[in-house]
Amino acid sequence: MHRLGVHLSIAKGISRIFDLAKSLGCNCTQIFSHSPRSWKFPIPTEEEVKEFRRRYRSEDIRPIFIHQSYLVNLASPNKEVYQRSLESIKREAEFAKLLGLRYIVIHPGSHLGKGEKLGLKNIVNALDSLSDHLDGLEILLETTAGARNIIGSRFEHLTYIIENSVVACGVAFDTCHLYSAGYDVSSEEGLEDTLRSFDSMIGIKKLKLIHLNDSKGELGSNIDRHEHIGLGRIGLEGFRRVVNHRHLKDKPMILETPMDGKRSDKENLDVVKSLIGSL
Ligand SMILES: [Zn+2]
Ligand SMILES: [Zn+2]
Repeated sequence: MHRLGVHLSIAKGISRIFDLAKSLGCNCTQIFSHSPRSWKFPIPTEEEVKEFRRRYRSEDIRPIFIHQSYLVNLASPNKEVYQRSLESIKREAEFAKLLGLRYIVIHPGSHLGKGEKLGLKNIVNALDSLSDHLDGLEILLETTAGARNIIGSRFEHLTYIIENSVVACGVAFDTCHLYSAGYDVSSEEGLEDTLRSFDSMIGIKKLKLIHLNDSKGELGSNIDRHEHIGLGRIGLEGFRRVVNHRHLKDKPMILETPMDGKRSDKENLDVVKSLIGSL
């Protein structure tokens, strides 16, 4: 059975996501632990935590991934930003442990022009200093579109981080990011090549999550602009192959499609569901 969901907002309370997920037809989901454009972490009350844990035990909605906030940059050459980012991920880890969740998705970050090498080293150091705070939590490194100075658009970057950090990180694919980074997941041959290369460098077992997003930007454009499923450059046939691929179909898939009024989350989910098994 596929694990399929959309990124959900906890604005109305953390345990509200279960009803929200059910009404949309999700059996897994992803959330921000707090407003993603803020460093502030509101701590849920004891009641809220209790209710969340009760629902999490009784509902078949799992995994629930936590996505880092947009401000975090573990590759930053700026000491203050680096330190704040590190603190932020520590808080994410506390939040995850409080709720009994396992995965935190992070973007490797930006070296801000100071070079890939320094950026990669900063990320490894950051992960190493997080290692005492994880207690069984798993950090997932998300593949990025590779806009200027952004690390994580090449499997080589992820390999470096995984090989050099004491933390055993997993990986999250984002189909839009892969495509705009130059991995042609829209074609049959491109998808096979991408997965073969990932498997030989990192190992398909390390892949723990797939963000399903179509791409507004062209192949290799490094443009990070998500599109509704099938309406972008990856296209319906591309997604049909992705969701049914033998290496991918058992991985949780989460949509982060735009909120532009063109199509609802439920409609995007239904499009994905219509592709499952129809190869
Ligand atoms: Zn992301
Ligand atoms: Zn993503």
